[in-house]
Amino acid sequence: VDIQKDSDLMHIVHVTAEMAPIAKVGGLGDVVTGLARACLTRGHKVDVFLPFYECINKQHIKELALTSTYNSFYDGSWVATNVYRGVVSGIPVVFIEPSNQFFKGQSVYGGSYNELEAYLFFSRACLEWLQVSGTQPDIIHVHEWQTGSLPLLYWDMYHYLSLKKPRIVLTIHNMEHYGECRQEQLSKCGLDGSMYANEEKAVDDRTIGHNPERLSLLKGSIVYSNAIVTVSPTYLKETLCSGWLAGTLIRHRDKYFGILNGIDAAMWNPATDAYLPAKFDANNVEGKKICKLYVQRGLGLASEVHSRNPDTVPLVVCISRLVAQKGLHLITNAIRYVEELGGQMVILGKAPDGRVESEFRGLAELHSKGSSIRILLMYSEELSHMLYAAADIVLVPSIYEPCGLAQMIGMRYGAVPIVRKTGGLADTVFDMDDQSQPELMNGT
Ligand code: ADP
Repeated sequence: VDIQKDSDLMHIVHVTAEMAPIAKVGGLGDVVTGLARACLTRGHKVDVFLPFYECINKQHIKELALTSTYNSFYDGSWVATNVYRGVVSGIPVVFIEPSNQFFKGQSVYGGSYNELEAYLFFSRACLEWLQVSGTQPDIIHVHEWQTGSLPLLYWDMYHYLSLKKPRIVLTIHNMEHYGECRQEQLSKCGLDGSMYANEEKAVDDRTIGHNPERLSLLKGSIVYSNAIVTVSPTYLKETLCSGWLAGTLIRHRDKYFGILNGIDAAMWNPATDAYLPAKFDANNVEGKKICKLYVQRGLGLASEVHSRNPDTVPLVVCISRLVAQKGLHLITNAIRYVEELGGQMVILGKAPDGRVESEFRGLAELHSKGSSIRILLMYSEELSHMLYAAADIVLVPSIYEPCGLAQMIGMRYGAVPIVRKTGGLADTVFDMDDQSQPELMNGT
């Protein structure tokens, strides 16, 4: 492939709570890895700064080595912090490991430490490390509320110290996560929280007038970043028209852009995917049939060769975090319809909410003896690849969706996406006879 190199080469540092595949919960992790790899390929220097979560499988990190130990400020004292370097999927990663309880536990989120405070610590620790190591990247790219205090810390503190060159880019992957933060919590990372409790800076617009204590890290980072990106043009429009941040975004409209996410075509490639029992591409779809049969047999679904209509049993796959945003009632309705219509369906998802978890567990048990529906309540990267490869249809019935990756991955693996027309789903899925999409008609 002829790789285009950019002429103005930059040093880009991503500061993020997730990175695929070592610390991925949803699309954020995929996008950080894909974007970092794309920029590396174009000739830029890229580093990803990530908390060194205890749950990270170190075997997936190449050349892992302790670089240094330094101190980073938190809550009135300096915390000894290890910094490691390593390489993940070809991307240089800097791991930040404080000596306190932060980031300990068996999963990326939901540990027994205070999550907000851990990310406040992490955001400052990244800037502190850039300062200690004398690194001046061109761009510090922050993602979501977790790293939302970094732009404040940069422009109100570190820029007055030694960091002069960097400019800050914020990507908002999902506006629903606003990073609720009390003034005194923000003060713990060394800023004066009360300075931000006004409408122009970080006060949470939903509570204006009755709770000036409450700040939003997402809003603060919108105000303080040099550029803001969200993950699809339609979501950009939606967030400017409604939602609690619309006023702030309109005020900062000139630096707010909607850029459609893509998927990492190297990581998601059915012609080379190491997780698949058989490879395939658009010109050779035999392998896809084998993948479907493999999944059907593995999950005890009636495989096509044994069913009444050997060629026509469609397999519907839904791979999703099981949260309200994803259209839970539409997913459960789909189970019923697919069963009634004689199709097959596999759901792979994790429900962070206990009630949702037990509802789906009940459904899983109900269908476990049958031969058409399977509900797998777990997170599995490997299974997700196999299911996309096996799928005839990928279902993404989100109520709202900033961009969504599942529909794009599905299409790359030869499945038809069925989606609601919202956000990035509206920007990526088109009917075959949609005249406004001439390139689709040409098969490109
Ligand atoms: P979100 O970021 O809101 O979760 P996206 O569609 O942008 O939604 O990204 C979801 C990503 O997470 C996709 O790569 C999808 O395959 C993956 N994913 C979601 N749930 C699971 C799961 N239970 N096991 C494996 N991968 C999952």
